[in-house]
Amino acid sequence: MNVFWHRRDLRIPDNRGLALAANDGEVLPVYVVDTDLLKQVGKRQRTFFMNGVRELKRRYRSLGGDLLVRAGTPADVLADVTEEYGADRVYYNRHYRPARRNRQRRVDDRLPTKAVEDLLLVDPRRLDSEYANHSRFYDDWQDEHKLTPFDSPDGDLVVDAADNTGVPDMEADIDLPEAGYRAARDRYDAFLDAGIETYNDTRDDMRLAVDRPVGAVSRLSPYFSAGMLGLREVWADASERYDAATGNARRNIDKFRYELSWREQNYHLLHYNPTLLTENYKHFPNQIDWANDPDHLAAWKRGETGYPFIDAGMRQLNQEGYIHNRPRQNVASFLTKHLLVDWREGARYFAKQLVDHDPASNYGNWQWTASTGTDSVDVRIFDPVAQMSKYDDGATYVKEYVPELREVSADTVVDWPTLPKSRRDDLAPDYADPIVDRNEGYERAQRVFEEALGKR
Ligand SMILES: Cc1cc2nc3c(=O)[nH]c(=O)nc-3n(C[C@H](O)[C@H](O)[C@H](O)COP(=O)(O)OP(=O)(O)OC[C@H]3O[C@@H](n4cnc5c(N)ncnc54)[C@H](O)[C@@H]3O)c2cc1C
Repeated sequence: MNVFWHRRDLRIPDNRGLALAANDGEVLPVYVVDTDLLKQVGKRQRTFFMNGVRELKRRYRSLGGDLLVRAGTPADVLADVTEEYGADRVYYNRHYRPARRNRQRRVDDRLPTKAVEDLLLVDPRRLDSEYANHSRFYDDWQDEHKLTPFDSPDGDLVVDAADNTGVPDMEADIDLPEAGYRAARDRYDAFLDAGIETYNDTRDDMRLAVDRPVGAVSRLSPYFSAGMLGLREVWADASERYDAATGNARRNIDKFRYELSWREQNYHLLHYNPTLLTENYKHFPNQIDWANDPDHLAAWKRGETGYPFIDAGMRQLNQEGYIHNRPRQNVASFLTKHLLVDWREGARYFAKQLVDHDPASNYGNWQWTASTGTDSVDVRIFDPVAQMSKYDDGATYVKEYVPELREVSADTVVDWPTLPKSRRDDLAPDYADPIVDRNEGYERAQRVFEEALGKR
């Protein structure tokens, strides 16, 4: 009999480590409530995880087995369980976050283990250790063979540990998506039926982000970050649609598959650069002269910068634990460029607020947006006014999250940070004044980054 150690892979279907363990005979699934590690996870996501563990336990029980839930450090708990049940080996799916890597090393040191790649479609060790940009990464990644989904184990192979320990109760300050494989699969099915064939046409449309939140994009990120849906399963279904489609639908489906490669690249980066979460990825000959104004950071967090598109994004984050990718890029750029606040501050705040927080994607994207990461452009600065004009010209998204501006015409909302103060005071006296001048913020960021790069 073997133990399977569930981690950020809270599902039974298409779970590679679990399937391999079951191939070897009976399997006892175990989840370790690792309080020290969970403290590093924001409360919203922690609650979502625990809901997922509870749902996983229900699923195992419906198969005739059970999920053993124990609190402690993984090495101690797994050593005790292995001895208690006379297990031969501990199987688990490999992870890349440094804190998780340390834990798996300690388990490997104490017990016979078998670790496999499950989190990604392509094991980073099969690719080069470094890529100059995403296109190069994508070319190699695309050429790699992708595995097909793994079957769920037969119920009679799952040990019934008859565990009544219960999963810790936690509460979040917002409504959370329903947790678990079933909810994830339902969401994916909805997206396959009405979304994937138009994904590229709709993914940046902020009106649709409000009117058709699941469909315009997949909204699968919370499920991926908790491992509630297997990537091979997602890839196989998307590829089946791709093979059957023609013309524009086919291009749209391919774009969805392409987007998954960004997630893979971020994990590839983290695998080869464990300091991605703490240090600039790119080398700067001079220090970046961050302004780090605490009042600016606080206004950004509250969604009160006086830039409608930025404030809508931050309020969506605060209210829902999710931000659409377009404003996600904009709020990150605004903080690190127009306000010149260190990207680590923003990434930490995201980690606290997001239900879909994923260490590789969060820190990798923050670094990309802050121009300290893998972007091939030296200094990228999003213009929050032009971005709103391009992606939310009817102000649907902004008005959804910034009620102070609901009565103002869309054109005026787009131009808001450039209007005279007297006009703004007349139209929406309760809404914040811009905390930085659009052009001055832009020019200061350009200068500071060029100095850091030694170009001035
Ligand atoms: C500053 C910043 C921080 C981010 N933090 C996270 C994070 O903590 N967790 C997270 O999952 N994503 C993060 N992203 C990436 C992206 O914004 C989200 O994955 C996406 O918005 C999730 O919505 P969706 O599932 O509807 O995406 P869809 O558009 O439906 O895309 C499908 C999937 O592709 C992947 N994907 C798409 N774009 C990216 C990307 N740029 N980087 C990595 N994966 C991508 C995700 O797994 C996503 O679920 C971040 C982006 C930025 C700019």
